[in-house]
Amino acid sequence: MAHAQDLRDDKSVEEAYFTLRSKHQIPALGLGTWKAEPNVVRDAVYSAIVENGYRHIDCAHVYGNEKEVGAGLKAAFDAGIKRDDIFVTSKLWIKFTSPEKVKDACQQTLKDLGLTYLDLYLIHWPIYLSEDADSPPKKRQVLPFDVKGVWREMEGLVERKLVRDIGISNFSVPKLEKLMSFASIKPAVNQVEMHPSWRNDNVLAYCNKNNIHVTAYSPLGSSSTDLFDTPEVIEAAEKLGKSPGQILIRWLIQRGVSTIPKSSSDKRIKENMEVFDFSIPAEDMDKLSSISSQVRTNAGEELLVSSEDDKDAILNEFWDGEM
Ligand code: NDP
Repeated sequence: MAHAQDLRDDKSVEEAYFTLRSKHQIPALGLGTWKAEPNVVRDAVYSAIVENGYRHIDCAHVYGNEKEVGAGLKAAFDAGIKRDDIFVTSKLWIKFTSPEKVKDACQQTLKDLGLTYLDLYLIHWPIYLSEDADSPPKKRQVLPFDVKGVWREMEGLVERKLVRDIGISNFSVPKLEKLMSFASIKPAVNQVEMHPSWRNDNVLAYCNKNNIHVTAYSPLGSSSTDLFDTPEVIEAAEKLGKSPGQILIRWLIQRGVSTIPKSSSDKRIKENMEVFDFSIPAEDMDKLSSISSQVRTNAGEELLVSSEDDKDAILNEFWDGEM
């Protein structure tokens, strides 16, 4: 297996992996499943794995489709793909981020996916809401988040061999520093929003320095931005004869970051995987990395801000000033 870091010089590699601190390997490219409708996600997972060479599927309890993702995985295994060759990520939802709820939540996800272990389990967001919380939550529904207690239970999942690696998602640098100060098993991965219009440079620098691998979510800008029309992206796409989506995915991989573009379309699932036969020259990487307007598409507003709150203050506090 090749390391994605090597791809800068090797255009012929078809599959690429990054090595986690545990020495396990995470594929550079995976399939996202958020907003993938239950009636199509089974086929998307099957097509990605069996027909297009994907080896990483990114899931979450809150996406409401883990049973259907599991059906897609089963179909792939029935077609001869080995479980050990697939990297499956899932995430602990914010209504279960309390120490006594972690194990049951993980076991529910395993049951839904039809698996005996996950490759990676992430704390989805560093918050804890009551199980009856509305979206957005009322003030009384936002409960104290015991990160130390929850992490200890996450470590217990590794000890019980229910998961191979544990990590976090949507953690800012100060929250990572706190976690690193007490973790016995250090986080393998921080999954965060990242694309040329939200580079997340500070989080990436901290993670690189501390051997925490970064996975980029919403690599194409999710469904709410016009990344595809950005002049820097169009210029690189035209120069290299690639699609804007391929440029955005390749930019991340060349930054040393794995990524999980979501698609339910066969055509785009295939297109998004065709990023290992070219590289973006340094001058174009620099241009893509210099877009001045930096905006999150997913600040978590609906998870964090109740109607009676001051939105800017809450989000600013949650992201520790990085808005
Ligand atoms: P993406 O940036 O992956 O964009 C997905 C959208 O782009 C869909 O509308 C898809 O439509 C479309 N698309 C896919 N490929 C192409 C292409 N080549 N050209 C044009 N359009 C394309 O957004 P997501 O927000 O879904 O992020 C990816 C994944 O990251 C999620 O699915 C989820 O697994 C994870 N995630 C994690 C979060 C976290 O908090 N940890 C938060 C958000 C996402 P179509 O399906 O029709 O192709």
